[in-house]
Amino acid sequence: MSTAPILRVLSLGAGVQSTTLALLAAHGEIGPMPDCAIFADTGWEPAAVMEHLRWLASGNVLPFPVHIVSAGNLRDDLLNRGSGRAGRFVTVPFFLRRTVPAGTVVPVFDTDGDGELVEVGQRTTTRGEHLDGIGRRQCTSHYKVEPIRRKVRELLGAGPRDPIPAGAVEKWIGISLDEVIRATPSKVRFEVNRHPLLELRMNRRDCLAWLDRNGYPRPPKSSCEGCPFHDQDQWREIMADPARRADVVEVDRAIRAPIDRPGVPAMQAEQFMHRQRVPLEDVDFSTAAERGQEEFGFLHECEGMCGV
Ligand code: SF4
Repeated sequence: MSTAPILRVLSLGAGVQSTTLALLAAHGEIGPMPDCAIFADTGWEPAAVMEHLRWLASGNVLPFPVHIVSAGNLRDDLLNRGSGRAGRFVTVPFFLRRTVPAGTVVPVFDTDGDGELVEVGQRTTTRGEHLDGIGRRQCTSHYKVEPIRRKVRELLGAGPRDPIPAGAVEKWIGISLDEVIRATPSKVRFEVNRHPLLELRMNRRDCLAWLDRNGYPRPPKSSCEGCPFHDQDQWREIMADPARRADVVEVDRAIRAPIDRPGVPAMQAEQFMHRQRVPLEDVDFSTAAERGQEEFGFLHECEGMCGV
């Protein structure tokens, strides 16, 4: 049986939606007031996001504290992945490409009733081919979901394995109407996910309009600098800044380096940060509209909390 929440936590990504959510609460337009907000720092957020976070957490803006937690530095972990140096091995959903010669036996996939990819057979290639895929997403869970959950346990005074009553924590997540597909229940019984922007039927544009009306600055886009979910506009902004460009290009090169770590199998495919599956320096950064094509985009997966 669920208990009434004893802790209300706002999962803060410091982008448009979760910033609006925090400020709506501060204005009393949605309640009850959260006890705190928690921001999980991957160590690879744009400087503008960290600046915006400092403003939000300054004590002059929100009537509740903002806790900043971290499970390490994603960029450093990616740079160290193939070196055998200390550091975690966590996968990011980078774009994969494996080039195979004619005569290679390769699996054939289809989707099952749940939309999951399943292997349904094999075929032999008749010419050289590129086999494309996307890597597993562990980064969201490791750098965002788990450190926030650890902080929640700490705030409740509970150890890592202590039982917590079902429904003890109400977690507010800044998912707007245009991202409704990402609104899912919590995977743990002691937390109940709440999506106040959906309750208010607000989409991203409504959030921006609310911020403008109330005289707040528009938050920058919140996601790791090298996130493969960036759209072309985000990539163009990053690549136009020499320091940011150098930062992502270094990591984009490193993720194709051979892996030499005990317990980690060698990669059969090459990884790329950009969906064109070429090194970042060789990507065509023109927009789909400029190329006369339809834009293929992702939702901003990490805003609020990616992978809820
Ligand atoms: S923003 Fe992208 S790279 Fe960063 S944790 Fe989320 S999914 Fe992973």
